Amino acid sequence: MARNNNRCSFCGRTDTQVRLLVTGETGAICDECIQQAYEVMQQHLNQDTIRNSSKAMGLKLSDLPRPSDIKAYLDQYVIGQDEAKRYLSVAVYNHYKRLLQPVTKDEVEIEKSNVVMVGPTGTGKTLMARTIANLLKVPFTIVDATVFTEAGYVGEDVESILSRLLQVADYNLEQAQRGIVFIDEIDKIARKSDNPSITRDVSGEGVQQGLLKLLEGTVVNVPPKGGRKHPEQEYVQVDTRNILFICGGAFDGIERKIAQRLNTHVVGYASVENVARIDRNDLMRYIQPQDLKSFGLIPEIIGRLPVLTHLDQLDRQTLRNILTEPKNSIIRQQQKLFQMDGIKLIFDDDALEYMVDKAIEFKLGARGLRSIVEAIMISPQYELPSTGQKEFRVTRKFAREQLEKSAVSRFAS
Ligand code: ADP
Repeated sequence: MARNNNRCSFCGRTDTQVRLLVTGETGAICDECIQQAYEVMQQHLNQDTIRNSSKAMGLKLSDLPRPSDIKAYLDQYVIGQDEAKRYLSVAVYNHYKRLLQPVTKDEVEIEKSNVVMVGPTGTGKTLMARTIANLLKVPFTIVDATVFTEAGYVGEDVESILSRLLQVADYNLEQAQRGIVFIDEIDKIARKSDNPSITRDVSGEGVQQGLLKLLEGTVVNVPPKGGRKHPEQEYVQVDTRNILFICGGAFDGIERKIAQRLNTHVVGYASVENVARIDRNDLMRYIQPQDLKSFGLIPEIIGRLPVLTHLDQLDRQTLRNILTEPKNSIIRQQQKLFQMDGIKLIFDDDALEYMVDKAIEFKLGARGLRSIVEAIMISPQYELPSTGQKEFRVTRKFAREQLEKSAVSRFAS
């Protein structure tokens, strides 16, 4: 390749000593110097943070969906959970406002609005986070807090969260740095007891400590392909300052902590009125950051998850709505599948009611609805495409017969 310039202008090696030499009018550069220059450039870009790049990417406040738009979008996919939707919409809106704030030293700085959502499993926490990421067209990844262990122990480093985000962003660092990370089962890394023990709590407090700096915002060396760090590996520097973290957890038994707090509070202030106003069946409504602390999250983590909201257990009517109402509801998906074979699929109301009854009976919540529908529909999905039939009606009787002969009904025992 190098005719006139057969020596790298940076390191001085000749074209026989390097794998590739790219030549220009007055100089040349070898593959290794290109790599080094690239790394220097990446570091430099990192220091500039994404604020500048969000400008370059044309992110404008006027283009941002308003909280009510975000909620309206969520409404199309997530049933109920109004309070959580409102909290999340505002948090996301503020988060992107924060990305747009000008970089002046003396102004009010908007702090990060990471979110923690508390609610039983299968009530829509992950769905909500995923839907928001779809709306904003930002990279999104879900990680399970239970896979992390303290650095140096068997398991994953918390930094691996960022490797995954990079992967879903197709290694586009700028995109990854304004993505959304959903950390599921955050409750599982709670400290096991209130007294920090002398023996190390590998999966509890240590991991919380590891998460701290990610949540707040720091530049982390990330092995782009994931896995454990080791000295010879090349790293990408990821700035987490503008990554939005949404944490979710069931926090089983937290109602007891809430009740305890409310009781002491009520007794402390001897307010009979307060006792009367508290709805004992819906204690989750009263959740406060200190309840997360009683549960075993360290105060520093709680401080970095300033938006706290809860999700309700799904009642019968909500489950019924989940079957048919979301834009990509389970029933609509089935109808679409059949429609592609030219078959009109109709579900009788009482067949749908039957599916809901079974989901409740099997204690599978919304997650169970999908397996129940799949179990009922497997035979027609197998047989109908080759019959030429134009319409198919799912009656309650048909649904019951199909479910009873399927493996799903074994969950009942
Ligand atoms: P989790 O709260 O455990 O994160 P998910 O969001 O993963 O629960 O919910 C599991 C599945 O149940 C979702 O993929 C969705 O199909 C359904 N689902 C749960 N809650 C809702 C809801 N409120 N609205 C619509 N679908 C829901």
